[in-house]
Amino acid sequence: MMIIKTICMGFRERVRLARIPLSKFSSDSYDIRPTIRAKVQDLKKATQKRRQLLYRAPMAGLNFEVTYTDNHDILKIFEAEGVEFLLSSEGKVPASECNGKVICLFFSANWCRPCRAFTPHLLELYETLRKRGISLEIIFISFDRDGDGFKEHFKSMPWLAVPFDVNLHRRLIDRYRVDRIPSFIPLCSDAITIEEDLIGCIEDYGADAFPFTRKRHEELKAMDKRKSEEASFEELLGHVGRNFLISGDDRKVPISEVAGKTIGLYFCAYWSPPCCAFTVQLTDAYNNLKAAKGECFEIVLISTDRDLDEFNVNRSSMPWLAVPYEDRTRHDLRRIFNIKGIPALVLIGPDGKVVSVNGKFMISSYGAEAFPFTESRIRDLEAALRKEGEALPQQVEDVKHEHVLKLDMAKAYVCDSCRKQGKFWTFSCDVCDYDLHPSCLEKAN
Ligand SMILES: [Zn+2]
Ligand SMILES: [Zn+2]
Repeated sequence: MMIIKTICMGFRERVRLARIPLSKFSSDSYDIRPTIRAKVQDLKKATQKRRQLLYRAPMAGLNFEVTYTDNHDILKIFEAEGVEFLLSSEGKVPASECNGKVICLFFSANWCRPCRAFTPHLLELYETLRKRGISLEIIFISFDRDGDGFKEHFKSMPWLAVPFDVNLHRRLIDRYRVDRIPSFIPLCSDAITIEEDLIGCIEDYGADAFPFTRKRHEELKAMDKRKSEEASFEELLGHVGRNFLISGDDRKVPISEVAGKTIGLYFCAYWSPPCCAFTVQLTDAYNNLKAAKGECFEIVLISTDRDLDEFNVNRSSMPWLAVPYEDRTRHDLRRIFNIKGIPALVLIGPDGKVVSVNGKFMISSYGAEAFPFTESRIRDLEAALRKEGEALPQQVEDVKHEHVLKLDMAKAYVCDSCRKQGKFWTFSCDVCDYDLHPSCLEKAN
């Protein structure tokens, strides 16, 4: 891969676009419309900053001076605190309702946006675990400032709550040393702590995070690692109760039909201008490959669209397959392949082994030529390109242009002689923005 990078650093982008720093070329965030992307990124950063502030703001007035030795027996604690009943959506329930169940405490507030964003994750987890027959109970302990906020927040929760009482809540917050919200505390030994980010673990794995222990978290991470290296397509692209993908024209295509092909997992969203630009290149390569090699290659859209409508518009414009929007698979694949930015293309060989996570670079540089996307294939392409360059003079004079032209490399350019697109080697002018295909060179005499 080093060789590829070295050559890429020399590429320049010139198709009626602002100049982009060379270092941007080989990065995943390369984009032909940098200003739009910069704006999106600024917005994202601002949102992230706000989110972090809410997450990490220390809760004023808390002191964790006393360390309680036994925090697991919540019934005893309720008894000592004089809590006679808990609340459910139906009304009061005796605290003894929790007897024999796996109890988890949920510290959260209605005024806190990350809390409101996390609650649906918890809801999904709660319902899934209950369906699996696990006797789990969550008890909401409010960080709200008044009873109205508490009531509003509790409306979204099907589990239990400690009745609203600021002083009691403070004592519980102190006892469990809760310094940020949302916080989720399972009352079992070896549970992932607040500091170890159980909230993030639940966001990542949903109900699979149960029983919320460090051991379970390690197991999940190990499973991800294995799948990121080698997995069957059914395991990677399917879900409980679903063994098909969907096509742009709404057909259910069994996952077994893609077995034996090279697969590109295409992480993309309809709202993203860089994705739209890359989709054009990818479609081109896809059609060329189908024409040249038949059914050896397939692309599967892993959408990051904001809703189902957007997703439907996105996939219906693409000639390949998609993972359905509804289940967790899209989310799981983003995590497994550590996708931090879109567009991204992960290429998997017919044997289920990952060939490259840098498919976007391969397609945007070499199109269908890059198939089967292995390092050795890219090395061959690089070598051929270098050989081609070595056969060309470093400097030339052309009858059509008044300045000396130098041999250069550009990712894409328009030849000023034939007006057609060019790629890689070009004779270009340092003085004006002039480019010439090496094949369009006309020497004097
Ligand atoms: Zn030309
Ligand atoms: Zn010139």
